Amino acid sequence: MPPETYDAVVIGAGPNGLVAANRLLDAGWSVLVLEAQPDVGGAVRSDSELHPDFVHDTFSAFYPLAAASPSLQAFHLEEHGLAWRHAPAVLGHPRPDGSWAVLHRDRRVTAALLDEQFPGDGQAWLETCQEWDRIGGHLVDALLAPFPPIRAGTAALARLRSVGGLDFVRTLLSPASELGRARFGGESPRLLLAGNAGHADIPLDAAGSGLMGLLLCMLGQTVGFPVPEGGAGRLTQALASRVRTKGGTIRCSTPVEGILVDRGRAIGVTTADGDRYAAGRAVIADVAAPHLYGGLVSDEELPPRTVRAMRRFQLDPSTVKVDWALDGPVPWAVPPPHAPGTVHVADSVEQMTEALGQVSVGAIPAEPFLLTGQMTTSDPTRSPTGTEALWAYTHVPQRSHRDAGEGGIRGVWDRDDCERFADRMQARIERYAPGFASRILARRVLGPREMEARDANLIGGALNAGTAQLHQELIFRPVPGLGRAETPIGGLYLGSASAHPGGGVHGAPGMNAARAAILHARLRAVLPGGR
Ligand SMILES: Cc1cc2nc3c(=O)[nH]c(=O)nc-3n(C[C@H](O)[C@H](O)[C@H](O)COP(=O)(O)OP(=O)(O)OC[C@H]3O[C@@H](n4cnc5c(N)ncnc54)[C@H](O)[C@@H]3O)c2cc1C
Repeated sequence: MPPETYDAVVIGAGPNGLVAANRLLDAGWSVLVLEAQPDVGGAVRSDSELHPDFVHDTFSAFYPLAAASPSLQAFHLEEHGLAWRHAPAVLGHPRPDGSWAVLHRDRRVTAALLDEQFPGDGQAWLETCQEWDRIGGHLVDALLAPFPPIRAGTAALARLRSVGGLDFVRTLLSPASELGRARFGGESPRLLLAGNAGHADIPLDAAGSGLMGLLLCMLGQTVGFPVPEGGAGRLTQALASRVRTKGGTIRCSTPVEGILVDRGRAIGVTTADGDRYAAGRAVIADVAAPHLYGGLVSDEELPPRTVRAMRRFQLDPSTVKVDWALDGPVPWAVPPPHAPGTVHVADSVEQMTEALGQVSVGAIPAEPFLLTGQMTTSDPTRSPTGTEALWAYTHVPQRSHRDAGEGGIRGVWDRDDCERFADRMQARIERYAPGFASRILARRVLGPREMEARDANLIGGALNAGTAQLHQELIFRPVPGLGRAETPIGGLYLGSASAHPGGGVHGAPGMNAARAAILHARLRAVLPGGR
């Protein structure tokens, strides 16, 4: 039997694969999406494994980048069941003295709270927001566009003088720890900037972390950190519903095992079941780069320089995530002035820097920096009234040499390691919320192995499909010279977070891959013989 034939086969139904599929369908292509897992969504899924009355987000939870993404907004996903919810405050960070650093969606409220703690910081915060108003939208567009971002980059450059020219560029390049110190007198703005920078794996004292911290803080002020009503999975289900409405086909529980290459061009895929699907125009891989190069495409099909460069590909650190079903709200010793969705747990910027530094030298952090989500506070549909669906995750090394704490955790991340490390994480929350443990109805710990088993792109628990540090960004992502979605194989496009601009739910790698495929197909139509 001849294989089923589509214009494009998309491997993986994560947010990027689904964005690519939607864009190709909008261009009139026939599209097949093949997903290894039983459900669509990749790292944007939810489940009720802990407790039948609770919905927990299996991986990601807050979506400022989706709210700011022109690609995702253009799909009008609200017509496919997506509704956004916001917590009373975007972000909170409890401090050892009982005060809180709080980022409220209303910048005047954020500024007033900061000013109470350090007079003058409120005004400095508002000025930072005003600066962002002038250039931020163009910067986000430039970051999400294919590299080099000619149109959006030119627009951002045109605004540069209005925000201080090269001084502003220097600000963006500053380490997060430095940025906070240069602009503010109090500790809270420093915690907000550094904590947000800690969402990526750029060291807080390295160039680039300031941009990440500023970007997320300012997105918090402009679009908030929204969550899909009913669970993270509603976002990818809406994308999948749009794919099906537009005539696309999605097959789950269908891992792709190989990409068929003929004379340097991708012509289809084979699945683990031995089925073949032909792709007349393009194959888009929402697959982590190490699984694509030398995996789905053998080294023999690739130029030696790509094979060599992939040997130096650097993953981001590993992750341990804990979910809790609580029979009441988190009993914060001192409640925050406004209940936040996201909560960061670290005693100080220095402690945060130390924990992330320990990860980068292969030590399991003694006092891990926790990113935490109060999901029922953010969306009351997640669990019964008066309860809380909570999670926290933190980074651990991909390869651990020692435990910087006292528990003798080995870093092999079997059940024993995972549970004991989860106890360490839980103790961090207990310190700020005495009695926390007594509220736990159920707990689930996802270590690196469990994460990868649920989504092959999360290699060793790496959540960004490759480090976000400068040496692997822009034209260096995933390897030098391959900064765009195009790959050395004609008709094959990398559309996962391993491609520029990297991790986060914004859909840009998927959109960039689809656009490149459409453009090349048009060029091939007028220039027969091209790739
Ligand atoms: C614990 C955690 C928390 C996070 N928190 C946030 C957050 O709050 N906000 C945010 O914006 N981002 C967050 N992220 C990052 C974000 O979820 C990812 O960057 C994003 O999901 C990447 O999308 P993707 O489509 O590239 O890959 P994925 O979402 O990983 O999807 C890839 C899909 O491809 C499938 N696949 C892989 N190989 C094959 C194959 N051979 N055959 C068939 N299918 C295959 C996988 O099963 C998966 O479904 C978080 C990630 C994790 C893990």
